[in-house]
Amino acid sequence: MDIAAIIDRCERLYRDLDLSHVHEWKQRTGGKAIGHMPVYVPREIIHAAGMLPVGIMGGGDDIEIIRGDAYFQSYICHIPRSTVELGLAGKFDVLDGMLFPAICDVIRNLSGMWQMMFPGKLVKYLDFPQTFNEVGRAFHRFEMAELALALETLSGIAATPERLNRAIALYNDNRRALAELYDLRAEHPQQVPTAELYLLLRAGNVLEVAEHTALVRAYMQQARRRQRALHDNVRVVVTGLFCEQPPLSMVRAMENSGCYIVDDDWVLGARYLLRDIPVGPRPLEAIADAYMTDTVATATRYVDGDDKGGYLVDQVRRRRAEGVIFAAASFCDPALLDRPMGQKALAEAGIPHTAFTYSENTGQVQVIKEQAGTFADSIKLWGAAA
Ligand code: SF4
Repeated sequence: MDIAAIIDRCERLYRDLDLSHVHEWKQRTGGKAIGHMPVYVPREIIHAAGMLPVGIMGGGDDIEIIRGDAYFQSYICHIPRSTVELGLAGKFDVLDGMLFPAICDVIRNLSGMWQMMFPGKLVKYLDFPQTFNEVGRAFHRFEMAELALALETLSGIAATPERLNRAIALYNDNRRALAELYDLRAEHPQQVPTAELYLLLRAGNVLEVAEHTALVRAYMQQARRRQRALHDNVRVVVTGLFCEQPPLSMVRAMENSGCYIVDDDWVLGARYLLRDIPVGPRPLEAIADAYMTDTVATATRYVDGDDKGGYLVDQVRRRRAEGVIFAAASFCDPALLDRPMGQKALAEAGIPHTAFTYSENTGQVQVIKEQAGTFADSIKLWGAAA
């Protein structure tokens, strides 16, 4: 497959709100499928219990919200509305369960609503520790053991240490491939357009992990050989998009505004763990412990002390970025509450930044393109945002 065919396949998967690929997978394997909301869930455990993890990221700009709006007040983000809309339309009937990781009140409430709306399905709210000490570790190990039990009961397949270790190895490999892809883009942003990288990431929401890893590697192999001119664009980090995703048109608009995006936090769950989970005699505990120590810093994860924003400065320096774009979903509490701390850290480090909000069905991307373009121009002209 050449790059065009790979990206075409990814875009078809991205636009497939009927989850036809999941239907096909179930027919082919006889297995069950488990949906999960952003940001992070331990997909290794779902895989080890013989099921397909399916990342659910709302409806993007491809559906009209009619019933979903009736369930929510106006001043919250968009992703729960489109998720409910899709659920009520039967698009998620193919899923045998849904996991709701604790990231904010919206997802917590959605998990309760899901239990009432789909009483026959497995619905699990995954609580995550807020203290990263031995108490938090014991709590998280317990949560992971409970999750494994619920999944095994549903699938009838035991997540044995052998199966868990195999799943760990597969997901470690997937994270390594994605890290390589991000490094390649940061090194040669003209070779890896961000819209392509984004579609590759989104494909990982539905493809089996080994197939996704192979697809990412096939893409990189060809992207390295591409002959594309390097433009005089400004290198930026984009942050705040870890849950509700921007429409693809917005990703393209940012990229076409004179910016090279050299790091970002969309589809963050796939890259949440920074190091390999060790394979060994107690794999379930290893999965739980990896969350305690080896994850990215993000707004939905408690960070101790006053160092909120410090990771952003590190990220900018590591990627040799010249500025930061804060792009949060409208009314996204975690992103918007973290933003001032990030801005403060950047201001102290003399790093230019700009900010805007979006929703997954934002239609007016021209305004965003102009803002990103003005930001890029101001950096080129004066080395700082206007
Ligand atoms: S976009 Fe923000 S507020 Fe909305 S569900 Fe996601 S994390 Fe919560």
